[in-house]
Amino acid sequence: MTDKHQLATQIVSVGRDKKWTKGVINPPVFRASTIVFDTMEDMRHAAKNKTNGEMFYGRRGTPTHFAFQAAVSELEGGAGTALYPSGAAAISAALLSFLQAGDHLLMVDSVYEPTRDFCSHILAGFNIETTYYDPLIGEGIRALIRPNTKVLFLESPGSITMEVQDVPTLCRIAHEHGLVTILDNTWASPINSKPFEMGVDVSIQAATKYIVGHSDVMIGTATANEQYWPQLRERSYLLGQTTSPDDVYLATRGLRTLGVRMAQHEKNALKVANWLQTRPEVDHLRHPAFETCPGHEFFKRDFSASNGLFSFVLKQGDQEAVTALVENMQHFKMGFSWGGYESLILGIFGIERIRSATKWDASKPLIRVHIGLEDPEDLIADLSAGFERFNAVLAAKVK
Ligand SMILES: *Cc1c(COP(=O)(O)O)cnc(C)c1O
Repeated sequence: MTDKHQLATQIVSVGRDKKWTKGVINPPVFRASTIVFDTMEDMRHAAKNKTNGEMFYGRRGTPTHFAFQAAVSELEGGAGTALYPSGAAAISAALLSFLQAGDHLLMVDSVYEPTRDFCSHILAGFNIETTYYDPLIGEGIRALIRPNTKVLFLESPGSITMEVQDVPTLCRIAHEHGLVTILDNTWASPINSKPFEMGVDVSIQAATKYIVGHSDVMIGTATANEQYWPQLRERSYLLGQTTSPDDVYLATRGLRTLGVRMAQHEKNALKVANWLQTRPEVDHLRHPAFETCPGHEFFKRDFSASNGLFSFVLKQGDQEAVTALVENMQHFKMGFSWGGYESLILGIFGIERIRSATKWDASKPLIRVHIGLEDPEDLIADLSAGFERFNAVLAAKVK
């Protein structure tokens, strides 16, 4: 792991090469479709270097994009980064870059629901079969690999149920069989794990979350190692993937405070989680830094820090009681996504319906929180009042 001081310096410095910035601090917004050339020779030169930092055509990117791509590549530790208009687009383009008709895909059972839907609605129609595997399968993955298996997809931890995967073991076995390993690395962000040192070939960020950090831009990144970067880059290009330079500008701006925001999210979330652990209503925490989280030992080994996103499971309760808890909060807002500066809460039902390789106990409600940058004491008071509403609903049913 890079030590904290070096990392903090890196976050401030990455992508600020003068060839992109021309000397201003933040890489400016270059809006472009057409790039004009004075001579045929200039045009040939640009064509030759179009994947190497020369402007060629808008869809290939501008210095605004190149600076952000360089920054993400360096932080993730890969050879190159492709940009997409959302995290979901990064996932679908990465899968389509490495799968063809007749191939077989191994997909983690705790995966982000739209990724699962992409497999069943799009890949299945292309005759690409998906097998789901238990996030904690470890060595058992061997038995699921077929002669036509091409990709192993991981997401660690899963963004609702939070199982942490043994990424190095899974990637080692996948490579013994020539598979491409793709990791949805959004929870770690580019600073809290080293995906390429763990054997990942392609690391994906829903930059919408912590990189942007302010809940106002949708953007995705996929970073590949030397071996897979040319294929990822060219196929993503053929899929027509581009991003607005204004959005990229905001993502680059967000990135500069990633280190301090993440440290504060982590601190606040640990405080709230420690309090939740003492609540009689709580069955267990699904926070990777706590022993009750499946795969906690891999968190300790493979991550340098946690952040603001975790879940907790209640001992009992129905939809009505959970609704009373999550509605009418003062500080927590209800809504999808996470990674912004604000706190969010969701009561999530129906998890059992998005599982096929593992069972989910639907009798115990799960609540997911994103702990923002508010004072954690205010958030604890908010949750405390929520539990009172929750208990009142349950008590009224007993009478
Ligand atoms: C939000 C999210 C995505 C999708 O990102 P969008 O930018 O919303 O498309 C993918 N993976 C994980 C783990 C996410 O949380």
